[in-house]
Amino acid sequence: MNGDVRREWFEKDYYKVLGVAKNASAAEIKKAYRKLAQQHHPDANPGNTQAEDRFKEISAAYDVLGDQDKRKQYDQVRDMAASGFGSGGFSGGGGGSGSGFPGGVRFEDLGDLGDLFGGLFGGGRRGGGARPARGADLETTVTVSFDDAMTGTTKPVRISGPAPCETCHGSGAAPGTSPTTCPRCGGSGAVAVNQGLFQMSQPCPVCHGSGRVVQTPCPTCGGTGSRRRTRSFQVKVPAGVQDGARIRLSGRGEPGPAGAQPGDLYVQVRVQPHAFFGRSGHDLTLELPVTYAEAALGADVRVPTLNGPVTMKVPAGTPNGKTFRLKGKGVPRRGGHGDLLVTTRIEVPRKLSKPEKELLKQLQQTEKESPRRRLGVEV
Ligand code: ZN
Ligand code: ZN
Repeated sequence: MNGDVRREWFEKDYYKVLGVAKNASAAEIKKAYRKLAQQHHPDANPGNTQAEDRFKEISAAYDVLGDQDKRKQYDQVRDMAASGFGSGGFSGGGGGSGSGFPGGVRFEDLGDLGDLFGGLFGGGRRGGGARPARGADLETTVTVSFDDAMTGTTKPVRISGPAPCETCHGSGAAPGTSPTTCPRCGGSGAVAVNQGLFQMSQPCPVCHGSGRVVQTPCPTCGGTGSRRRTRSFQVKVPAGVQDGARIRLSGRGEPGPAGAQPGDLYVQVRVQPHAFFGRSGHDLTLELPVTYAEAALGADVRVPTLNGPVTMKVPAGTPNGKTFRLKGKGVPRRGGHGDLLVTTRIEVPRKLSKPEKELLKQLQQTEKESPRRRLGVEV
């Protein structure tokens, strides 16, 4: 790959050439290329030099966009161009050094683009290149009752720490002025430094990675855009929220330097346990105490649900630990509710009245066979 080819990357929008969106899938690109190539193929347009040029252009575009790795590198070059990073080195015809490259290294001097980006962006695996710094994310927790978690609620949270300055609304610039693009890094927030053959990137020393500089600092915050204070927010906790869920309040984190994008505030939801309901995904669980007589004879019993008690039929001969599913009586979710899983637990009385004792003894005498017989013992 030579410098001319890379200059062409800088100047030519291959997506436009193929008439596809920048986020087009590989299949879409292939389809667009095939259609255009057929249309402009020299065989189909003998003697038409315009078609021939167009065909070459289409082929060059597909050569890059049709190759996953080349396309990635191309996108990075284009992104860098858009942020003004090193543009001098490209558009200057191969002679000059980019304004973003204080060492005067020309792009053409570097071997492979992979090395270049690897050096600049720490292995090039992030794919997106350098981005201006943003404010730190913050995290807090909010505790809600089980019932509130089922119905959904709104809860206040308080956060103490760096917050956007109230005078300049976080820009850091005095009222009536605004921050300007950093002249050193061109707004990318990163500068390249030479390390022998390779280039490394480091946060811009002028704007500290924000990509912006404040000419006339705000008198309240001294240009940082940030002041320590306590902020209160209302957090919407959705119905059916799970214990441990995190709710993101976009842009409510710490302010970014010099008006750069603020971080986000993450609110972790703690759901208090319920006295008798448990939870399994979108289903509620309940242990239902029943008497031996109810289990043996069958009974209609009252069962609590989120919307008040309902009657459930316990069939005759219900064993201990049998689970019944009450449809739609569970946790609210999109398009309905989960179920309520009711599991029987046969209660054995601790104390018996005299008549009860008598009746149970009579019952015992009518039992012909020990339930332990299948274990190989008689009594
Ligand atoms: Zn301020
Ligand atoms: Zn800078």
